[in-house]
Amino acid sequence: MEKKNIDWSNLGFGYVQTDMRYVSNFKDGAWDEGVLTEDAQVTISECAGVLQYAQTVFEGLKAYTTEDGHIVCFRPDLNADRMADSAQRLIMPVFPKDRFIDAVTKVVAANAAFVPPYGSGATLYLRPYMFGTNPVIGVKPATEYQFRIFCTPVGPYFKGGVKPLTLCVSDFDRAAPNGTGHIKAGLNYAMSMYAITKAHENGFDENMYLDASTRTKVEETGGANFLFVTKDGKVVTPKSNSILPSITRRSLLYVAKEYLGLEVEEREIYLSELDDMAECGLCGTAAVISPVGKIVDHGREICLPSGMTEMGPITKKLYETLTGIQMGRIEAPEGWIHVIK
Ligand SMILES: *Cc1c(COP(=O)(O)O)cnc(C)c1O
Repeated sequence: MEKKNIDWSNLGFGYVQTDMRYVSNFKDGAWDEGVLTEDAQVTISECAGVLQYAQTVFEGLKAYTTEDGHIVCFRPDLNADRMADSAQRLIMPVFPKDRFIDAVTKVVAANAAFVPPYGSGATLYLRPYMFGTNPVIGVKPATEYQFRIFCTPVGPYFKGGVKPLTLCVSDFDRAAPNGTGHIKAGLNYAMSMYAITKAHENGFDENMYLDASTRTKVEETGGANFLFVTKDGKVVTPKSNSILPSITRRSLLYVAKEYLGLEVEEREIYLSELDDMAECGLCGTAAVISPVGKIVDHGREICLPSGMTEMGPITKKLYETLTGIQMGRIEAPEGWIHVIK
């Protein structure tokens, strides 16, 4: 197979149209067979449920080339499970797990020429999503839906080296205690646009959101979970039912415990404790972990001892171990690597 003529290491994180995508429609209570198609356009009613009342959920995962030349995905079963949870919370039909994994496999295989080569740092990002398609004007769940997966090649996250981020403790809330923060819904992002635009205008990379009810506990950023390393070397991550359960974070905790022998803890983390942290990172599919160098809480600066030029030592070990597992350089736990070809 001839790879596309793309400058892999200089790709950014943007949409590049690839050859094929997967589409399945839900109507009269059932999903149709589903097809791969070259058609990158979506045509729906002007009154579609997704357009009026934002009934849509999504996922994000990557395919990449391992050291020994296989094309693989990382834990797509967990994306299927999480999308099922997201769909149920918005009264949308679940796209079955086996079919989800099959569709991921088909889309990657059909676009194998877009899967970046091993060592380029680039990956093929997959975006499964589902939305209400039939006309809905009175507020109610749609009865017809479309499930799609497209993919787009994306460049290395740490192009030009690692640059620790500066965060701002936000006065806006991302999620309410009994709201939708734990599901991957577009609506959680729509309302974060204002907050992130303001943060960028003020010179920050990301927002640190607090729990909405007490505004004393750390939740997450707009699109990544927190991992902290305490000064005594423990890996801690916030426990809350309003944060999105990151697959990367869950995998890193496992790696910390089982591969690195570190103590790990999922618990409430207070803003007031952050001075006691040695390292902080943001975890998600895009970067695996991006280090945080500084957190600014209304003028009070919390400078992580790991500094503004590199990853902290434990963050780095976590990053290298998980990316080693993903790329086939380190043996993976059973079921983590889904081989496509
Ligand atoms: C997708 C997402 C994450 C990261 O989850 P991964 O499964 O690790 O990619 C974290 N927070 C939010 C709000 C997200 O939408």
